[in-house]
Formats: sequence, structure tokens, C-alpha cells
Amino acid sequence: MASKKSRKAREREDELVAKAATDEAKKAAKLAAKLEKAQEKAAEAVAAAPQRVADVLAVGAGFRLADVDPSSTPGFDGKKADGEAALAAGAQPLSDLQERLWAASRGGDTRNVLLVVQAMDTAGKGGIMRHVVGAVDPQGVRHTAFKAPTAEERAHDFLWRIRRALPQAGEIGVFDRSHYEDVLVVRVHDLVPRATWSRRYATINRFEKSLADKGTTVVKVMLHISKDEQKARLAERLDRPDKHWKYNPGDVDERGHWDAYQEAYQVALTRCSTQAAPWYVVPADKKWYARWAVQQLLTDALADLDPQWPVADFDVEAEKKRLAES
Ligand code: AMP
Ligand code: MG
Repeated sequence: MASKKSRKAREREDELVAKAATDEAKKAAKLAAKLEKAQEKAAEAVAAAPQRVADVLAVGAGFRLADVDPSSTPGFDGKKADGEAALAAGAQPLSDLQERLWAASRGGDTRNVLLVVQAMDTAGKGGIMRHVVGAVDPQGVRHTAFKAPTAEERAHDFLWRIRRALPQAGEIGVFDRSHYEDVLVVRVHDLVPRATWSRRYATINRFEKSLADKGTTVVKVMLHISKDEQKARLAERLDRPDKHWKYNPGDVDERGHWDAYQEAYQVALTRCSTQAAPWYVVPADKKWYARWAVQQLLTDALADLDPQWPVADFDVEAEKKRLAES
């Protein structure tokens, strides 16, 4: 009797285990279907884009920063989940192109790429570094964050520290802030006389043209955030102890100069968007969109270079034979 009862109990247990396994499998299948659908939708959203993101976001004649809606998603016809799926799908192609650029440099190709990222505080520069640039081999990336210049840097002209941080052959240089601070924060706060900063636009254009002439593809991105979104992000930093480290009381002071900064950006964007080094304004209220858009800009820049695998400088067949015999 006892053994019969326990057999029944065992059967019931088996049943429960089987049911749990089926539920788990169902859940997994549902999740997989959901992911597949999101990826399909992401591909559709990209395919529906009329042009390359670069064409939609480039600063051209008559550009007005105030007319760009920071919450818009130009060139992407989808929602957050689609954007995140598209970003995930774009990581490998970007990484592959970077590897080819690096490999090509081993074969003597001296070209490189410089990504310049400028933005108001909290606009998401850090997220671009982590989620876009973070997808490529760090060995091929030269990353520099520019802060207020040190005494040594101030003793030189404003491009001195920039020149020292330029990417070498095969590298992707990434500037978190840049020489543009010297016509942004410097202009807003009159850190040097007007006569000095006003000359810098032409100096910057000459400098960037010389970079392009020497084989650097310069991609300049402004992450464009709204004043309201900045307030929300600063509030979140204050609300969350794990974000206090990101909060800088000075950001609220800079926020007080919002309009002056927008004007300084308007001038820098229009005076320094050149054929040699165009500016792209990326709406940044939606982090997922900004990340995807910058990923595309970078990927397209690399794809345009079309770096080639270097040809072996040894006899491949002879080496195969030597290896086989070893
Ligand atoms: P963050 O990027 O938030 O770490 O802040 C860096 C700070 O350095 C910002 O407040 C910039 O405005 C400031 N900064 C960067 N470059 C310059 C410059 N050339 N002159 C003055 N301040 C600068
Ligand atoms: Mg900051």
C-alpha cells in the first residue's frame, strides 16, 4: 500500500516536473519569438529609412539648431525596443570594420577616423562611449576626454593638446569634448578676449582640413538634448545614490547659461560644418536613438574607407607545408 502511494506521489511529481519543463520551454519560445520580431522590426525600420543617417543629420546651409526636435528620431522609424535591437545588431559590423581598418594599417594604410562628441551636460556622451565605441577592440581606439585645460596646456595654443591626442594609422580616435570647447564654454564665459575666440572658427576649419588631407575621416557629433530632459536627468542623478557620483553642482550653473550655449553651438555648427569635416546633430532625448545614430555614422564612415585585409608578405603555401611537417 505504502509503495503504491509513493509510486502515485512519484508519478505526480514527474507530472509536475514535466509541466514545469513545458512551461519553461513555452516561455523560452515566446521570448525567442519576441526577440526575432523585434529584430525584424528593427531591420524594417532601418530599411524604411530613405537615406543614410549621415544625410539626414548633417548640418547644411540654413541649418538652425532651434529647429531640431531633440525627441525626434530622424532616419529611424521604430520604437525603443526596435532601436535597442538595431544597436545590438550593429555592434558586430562596426567591430568587423574596425578590425579591417586596423589590419589594413599593418599593411601600410595610414588612414584613420576621428569621432568628436560634443554635448550639453547629461546628454549621453558616456553612453556613446560605453554602448557604441565599447563594441570595438579597445586596442584600436584612442579615447581622450578633454577637461578644463591644465596650466601646461594653457601655456600652448588651444590645438596643442588636441594634436597630441590624434588617432594614429588604423585607429579610431574618440574625443569626449574637444577643441570646440574653445569656442563654446570659452565663448559663453569670455575666458579669452572675443578677438581671440572669434578667430578660432577659421583656425579650426584649417586644422580639420589638414587632418582630412592627411587621411583622417573626421566625424563630428553634437548630441542635442532639450532643457527639460536635462532637468529630468539631473533630478534622477540626485534621486539615486548610485548616480550621485555623476552629479556635478556646476552643471546647474552651466544650465543657467542654456541660451548662450545654444547660440554658441549654433555658430560653431554652422561655421565649422565643412566638406572636409561635417557636423552631425543627433537628437538625444531618446538615448537609444542617439546611440544607434552615432553607431551608424561611425559604421558608414568606416565602410566608406573600405579598408582591405593586407596581403601576406610570406609564401602561404610554403608556410602550410612547413607547418604540416613541423
Ligand atoms: P565633463 O566632460 O562633464 O567631465 O566636464 C569637463 C569640463 O571641462 C566641462 O565643464 C568643460 O566645459 C570643461 N572644459 C573642457 N575643455 C575646456 C576648455 N578648453 N576650456 C575651458 N573649459 C573646458
Ligand atoms: Mg559633466
